[in-house]
Amino acid sequence: MKQYLVKIKSIKHITHDVLQIVTEKPLKYSFNPGQATEIAINKNGWKDEKRPFSFTSLPENDDLEFTIKTYPTHKGVTNELLHLENGDELILHDVFGAIAYKGDGVFIAGGAGVTPFICIFRYLQSMNETGDNKLIFANKTKKDIILALEFKEILGENFINILSGEITDKYPNGQIDENFLKVHIDDLGQQFYICGPPPMMEAIQKQLVRLGVNKENITVEEM
Ligand SMILES: Cc1cc2nc3c(=O)[nH]c(=O)nc-3n(C[C@H](O)[C@H](O)[C@H](O)COP(=O)(O)OP(=O)(O)OC[C@H]3O[C@@H](n4cnc5c(N)ncnc54)[C@H](O)[C@@H]3O)c2cc1C
Repeated sequence: MKQYLVKIKSIKHITHDVLQIVTEKPLKYSFNPGQATEIAINKNGWKDEKRPFSFTSLPENDDLEFTIKTYPTHKGVTNELLHLENGDELILHDVFGAIAYKGDGVFIAGGAGVTPFICIFRYLQSMNETGDNKLIFANKTKKDIILALEFKEILGENFINILSGEITDKYPNGQIDENFLKVHIDDLGQQFYICGPPPMMEAIQKQLVRLGVNKENITVEEM
């Protein structure tokens, strides 16, 4: 497996626990919107600790960007990323990933599961092809919503949030269920893209199939 050493050009928080990391891009390194690579930190003790992260920059950008939710309690790679600064190095690997844009549809994400969709929506916006695509984004609280302003700007009324752990005037409270999907899905024949924690993904796939969505129109990526 090939390895690519890249320097961090910038690293900052975009929510209380999500980092946006911009790195150099290796020569001839290419990916499609929705894909990911495994990242390790080029530091003693961490070089073999590889974790998968999606590209959130556009393939044609000169730099790479990653949007990474950190878990300090795991004492793993994402916690270690919190201690990095500009000039520190990451080790990237080959590109992979099941999520690819196959046409207009409903994107359903839980928490950091939205990351492959960031790249896809930025790509569609760059092509002026946002169309009727919709993002249903489930989070615990308002402060957990990643890139809320950008999604609102790209999708307008087609950016739909639901919060499981906070009651606000702005967003509905609860978890995505069949009723919620029924209210927000206009066309059961379009594409469905789901990315999030495994239990959420299993539940939503079942709900979509019960509502009459063809399994072949559902693309999933576990996180
Ligand atoms: C294809 C793909 C793409 C992804 N893209 C992104 C992305 O773009 N952005 C993003 O934020 N995430 C993404 N993820 C998820 C991301 O890979 C994980 O969040 C990341 O691997 C966590 O790494 P970690 O070392 O911090 O923690 P982990 O590897 O989860 O844990 C490290 C260690 O902590 C311990 N541990 C595990 N769970 C717990 C727990 N609940 N409490 C305490 N200790 C625990 C275990 O001993 C474990 O070995 C993606 C996942 C996949 C599969």
